[in-house]
Amino acid sequence: MMTETTAIMAALSTLSPPQLSDLTLSILSDIRHHHHRLSAVLSSPILFSLTLHHLYSLSLPQKTFLIARHLLSALRHLTRHFHPKQPLPALPSTAVKQRDLDAVLLLLLLCEIRQHNPEALETSPTKWRETLSELWCDAMLTLSGIGFCSGSVLIPYIETATRCWKFVGEMGCCGGDGDGKVAASPAAVVSLPSVEVRGRGVECVICKEEMREGRDVCELPCEHSFHWMCILPWLRKRNTCPCCRFPLPTDDVFGEIQRLWEILVKMGCT
Ligand SMILES: [Zn+2]
Ligand SMILES: [Zn+2]
Repeated sequence: MMTETTAIMAALSTLSPPQLSDLTLSILSDIRHHHHRLSAVLSSPILFSLTLHHLYSLSLPQKTFLIARHLLSALRHLTRHFHPKQPLPALPSTAVKQRDLDAVLLLLLLCEIRQHNPEALETSPTKWRETLSELWCDAMLTLSGIGFCSGSVLIPYIETATRCWKFVGEMGCCGGDGDGKVAASPAAVVSLPSVEVRGRGVECVICKEEMREGRDVCELPCEHSFHWMCILPWLRKRNTCPCCRFPLPTDDVFGEIQRLWEILVKMGCT
């Protein structure tokens, strides 16, 4: 069975060279920003203790939500070239407050160290900053070597995204049967096109009535169409097409993660 990382690599391998280089550049700038923040946190005792304190103050669901937002931002990068024909609207950004970004980056670093180097965290948390700084510098020196090519950028990025995906799934927030019970994003709904019905006998599957020829109806990106009066209430409750379950963007973080993850995995399987 393909692992998640392999599936995402397979999806990215379907991109054209310009798309891949655009993706690498966008991810690189994301990673640079993250490295910059982590270095700032690790080099300042005050910022480090504030960030650790913030992390301690968060409940498990709040931490899960932070990781989910972080994962969503990675997925938006990774799927930027996989959206269906129609350009969907620019959705509200996943920008997180700097304090939250610092916290999630520190949390991920701690998780990674706990996994590969658990004894490093056996000291008291007051010593963590020094220990983490050393490990972080070693990692940075390795990365800044000659091997800093697109593979060495993309693979760790995808692995982090996969780890976040598994974590969020284990917390029971994603990876369910995807019954689509989240509302479609209003921004996506507003941008849906109105098309004129051509021909007779076309039925709206929601109300089972014929869509009269010449009338304006709503067309979803999957090309299924419905009366506006029928589809709007539907999309306030669900983000999927009533005929084929094609998912529209949603403002629900977990619903959107599910949608983008499925786009990536599907691309990897074609
Ligand atoms: Zn209808
Ligand atoms: Zn459809």
